[in-house]
Parts: sequence; C-alpha cells; structure tokens
Amino acid sequence: MATLTIRHLSKYYPNNQFALRDFSYESKSNEFIVVLGPSGSGKSTLLNLIAGLENPSQGTILIDQHDVTELEAKDRDIAMVFQDYALYPHMSVYENIAFYLKLHGVKRDQIKEKVTEIATTLQIDDLLERKPETLSGGEQQRVAIARAMIRNPKIYLLDEPLSNLDALLRGMMRSELIELHKSSSSVFLYVTHDQSEALAMGDTIIVLDHGTIQQVGPPETIYSHPANSFVAGFIGTPRMNFIEESVYRCLGGSLEIHDDVMIGIRPENIKIAIAGNEPVSHYGRIAFSENMGKEIHYHVCYKDQEIVVCRPSETDPPIPDNTFVACIANADSFHYFDKKTGNALDL
Ligand code: ADP
Repeated sequence: MATLTIRHLSKYYPNNQFALRDFSYESKSNEFIVVLGPSGSGKSTLLNLIAGLENPSQGTILIDQHDVTELEAKDRDIAMVFQDYALYPHMSVYENIAFYLKLHGVKRDQIKEKVTEIATTLQIDDLLERKPETLSGGEQQRVAIARAMIRNPKIYLLDEPLSNLDALLRGMMRSELIELHKSSSSVFLYVTHDQSEALAMGDTIIVLDHGTIQQVGPPETIYSHPANSFVAGFIGTPRMNFIEESVYRCLGGSLEIHDDVMIGIRPENIKIAIAGNEPVSHYGRIAFSENMGKEIHYHVCYKDQEIVVCRPSETDPPIPDNTFVACIANADSFHYFDKKTGNALDL
C-alpha cells in the first residue's frame, strides 16, 4: 500500500509570485485525495511538482517514505491522467496502452495478456485496433486511464480528467474511478475545480486558494464545518447565503451579532412558508425561482438582499413569483465568520 508525504512544498516565480505556499500533507495508504480550488489556486502546480515536471522552490516529496524530490519524473513511479487525454494520435488503442511496457522491454506475450486484461476491465477491449481520433471523449478517457493503469504506479495523479465529458458519462466514469481505486493499492490524487465531484469522490478533500491550503478533511466535515468563509462559499450548490443581520433576525436568528461577524446559512437549511399577498416587514418576496427537477431554488428578496432557498419539488407544490413568504431556519444551522480573517467562529 503506497503513501504520499509532502512537506512544506512551495513554488514561487521570479517576481515572487507564489503558485503554492508551504503545502504539507501526509496521506494514509491507498487514500483517495481530492485537491479542490478555483482556477489559479495552485492545483496544477502541485501536480506538476509531485510528478517531477517542475522543481519546487522549497520542500520535499516522499513516496513510501523515500525522498523523490530530486528524482526525474520517470523514476518516481507515478502515472498522470490529463484533462485532454494526451493519447498518441498515430498509435492504435492497443499500442497506446502497451507503450510503457514495450518501452521497458516486457515480452510481447505478457504485454498482450496485460493489455487485454485492463482493456476488458475498462470495457474497451473491442476498440483495441482503432485510432484515438475515431473514439468518443469517454472512450478516449478510458484509454488514457488504461494507459496509466498498466504501469500499476504507486501514485495516480489525475488532472481534471472528467471535465471534457458530458454529465452522464462523467457520472459513469466517476463511479469507475472509485471502483478502480478500491481495487488498487495506489494513492489517488485527483484535482478538480468542481466541488460536487470533490464531495462525491474524495476520502479527503484539500481545499486550496491562492496557493494556500484553506482546509483539509473528509467531505462531510468540509461541508458541515467549513473552516472559513472561502470554503463555506465554495462548497455547496447553490452557494451558502451570506446574510445581513436584519435578514438573520427575519429567519429566526437570535444571537447578539457584532459588526465584525459575518453570518452564513445554506439554502437547504431554510424552510419556507407562504405568507399571503400582503407585504409584512419580516416577510420576503419571491423574485423568481429555478426548477432543478428534484428541487426548486427560490430567490427571495428581503428589502435589498436576496437569499436562495431550496425546496424539494416532489413534496411541495411550486410557489409563484411575487408571493410573500416567511423563511425560517434552525438556530444551529447558522454559520458565523470573522469578517476580517474569514475564519469560522464558534458562537
Ligand atoms: P490552477 O491549476 O489551480 O488553475 P496553477 O497551478 O496553474 O493554478 O497556477 C497557480 C498560480 O501560479 C496562478 O496565479 C498562475 O498565474 C501562477 N503561475 C503558474 N505558472 C506560472 C509561471 N510559469 N510563471 C508565473 N506564474 C505562474
């Protein structure tokens, strides 16, 4: 069972611009780690440093407790799967998958056996003679994964590998990657800007922003106990509402709130009740709604502030626009943050 340890890893550029700042993490063996962050947060930099495609400014990388920081990429026992597949266009699917073993002088019979086994697992055994350009996006992605699998690496680095696929295929490939991880002894490090993908796949999520770790933890902790307002706003769809004190009072909040405290509440933690057609000061007005199938997202205006509320569409009939509603939340579903630092507060 492989492990990945990263100590104080930093990468800065000549203008002193940090791409990654003092990143440390010690994986459990065979862990599925998701690195989540917006564009420019340092995700690719981290992957490239682990893969050995870039040199760190500071810090060390250990695989199975062996320091690989100075090793070349090819000697690190890592396989990478990219967003754009990076298949060799002039080779058949078979040759693409077999390439690594061929390069390492493995006998032809053994290569055939291994390629067939992996191609069967990934259900691409009937595509082996085809060229990449004749395959769909999903099929190309499977070939890219097969090419990584044949190396049986200690670490898989997956750089937004599903982002070019349509929603249906993405869901299927997501499950397949989870299965693949279960059946392997490798560490998976999966990079994405898609928070729902991160919540669905990771044993552990590392949230990055501006090259700095914001929070590390299992999906349920990241979601229920965000360490700061950045994580709170980045995780969850629709986004957490950050509300003014007047709205907090309307929703039932009862704590004494100081000016330096920011209040947050998730749309799914707010209940909604029809209040009639007459405006009353503590009611909100439905400006518009979005039917998402399983639930409806209501955009409710309290004077000049809009909040979003989710309601299941199966059990509750739709509420028309411009209806006045009472929104209520449970006291323990409010989140509080320091306005200056953004850090979560325990009020
Ligand atoms: P992500 O993968 O999360 O989108 P990156 O790792 O690509 O983020 O980039 C992190 C930061 O480092 C960005 O601000 C980017 O502009 C900066 N950066 C990346 N490569 C270079 C470079 N070669 N020179 C200067 N800045 C860079």
